[in-house]
Amino acid sequence: MRRKVIAGNWKMNMLPNETLSFIEALAPHVKNSEVEVILCVPYTDLFYALLAAQETNIKIGAQNMHWEDSGAYTGEVSAKMLKSIGVEYVILGHSERRQYFAETDETVNKKVKKALEEGLKPIVCVGETLEQREAEKTDEVIGKQIEIGLGGLKETDFATLIIAYEPIWAIGTGKTATSEQANETIRAIRKKIVEMYGNEVASNVIIQYGGSVKSANAKELFTTSDIDGGLVGGASLKVEEFEKIINFS
Ligand code: PEP
Repeated sequence: MRRKVIAGNWKMNMLPNETLSFIEALAPHVKNSEVEVILCVPYTDLFYALLAAQETNIKIGAQNMHWEDSGAYTGEVSAKMLKSIGVEYVILGHSERRQYFAETDETVNKKVKKALEEGLKPIVCVGETLEQREAEKTDEVIGKQIEIGLGGLKETDFATLIIAYEPIWAIGTGKTATSEQANETIRAIRKKIVEMYGNEVASNVIIQYGGSVKSANAKELFTTSDIDGGLVGGASLKVEEFEKIINFS
């Protein structure tokens, strides 16, 4: 049985004091939740988030990392560094990083391998543009992202790795994929994983949906056959809204 996982992606928002009060306010509302709750925060908030989340069931993640352990990579942070302070998750290949910071399927693959090697749990994002969806290229585009981005892994890696299906046209736009569209594409992702790693891996891997998730659509999305929770951007910045999404059922 797959579990539901709901992760907030704060992007470049929130200061340390806001992080502390957010987690303090959220924790009591989610302490009995059966959903796994993750907050992926900016680097500068990580230490504070880890402190505030210590006695709670909220897990903390970063939003990116470099694939090398150390070296002349100004401005970068390695998996080892994240792991050393107790970070558990890391978002990799978010469409904003692909779009603005030249992230490719190849660099995503290097990062995924390094994260797993260091014991970090990657949340790997894939998704199509509106043009690609309208040209009926969604499965092909995502198939390639999965083939390269998740190539050369071990079957056991999929026990910790999470995939987030995030149609680019639905991120931060207020346009959500319908639950049928999201579920159907996630089924196509499972089919691709069957080809690469077999049935058991494909039916057990956690695949989230992301793209304008809010409390009003969370239940409809997360109660479909193949969607195992969500990666939530804007709506994860407000305690009340994020708490309602987590407690969707
Ligand atoms: C995201 O950034 O991963 C995301 C899904 O954003 P939003 O929920 O704001 O669309």
